[in-house]
Amino acid sequence: ATEPYDPNNVFAKILRGEIPSKRVYEDEFAIAFHDINPHAPTHLLVIPTGPYVSWDDFSANASDAEIAGFVRAVGAVAREAGAVEPGYRLLANVGLNSGQEVPHLHVHVFAGKPLGPMLA
Ligand code: 5GP
Repeated sequence: ATEPYDPNNVFAKILRGEIPSKRVYEDEFAIAFHDINPHAPTHLLVIPTGPYVSWDDFSANASDAEIAGFVRAVGAVAREAGAVEPGYRLLANVGLNSGQEVPHLHVHVFAGKPLGPMLA
């Protein structure tokens, strides 16, 4: 079971504009901004505008329109991020064992250099 959504998590505050971020994308379903502690030349976070704790919560409970809108937004952001140096990596941490820090769904977009093998 997913924990209840905490409307005071840091990404909720970024979504409401209560704390600053370097936004690169925004539409009805998603916003994207630069990760404050980048792990690649381009490291963006794409989050849905709706109150979803994780990929687990979102994929189970969001509407078809929200899911389509979010996936399209991740695609657009990643395509742009991967346009100069070819390719990118998407990552979503879910729950305790993944090390998920912020309880609002975010998809990491890494790009801008050869990213090396996945670590397990
Ligand atoms: P997680 O570990 O939950 O998958 O990823 C959380 C990410 O959010 C981390 O990469 C971290 O650097 C980033 N982050 C945490 N707080 C902030 C913030 O206030 N602003 C921005 N832009 N990124 C943040």
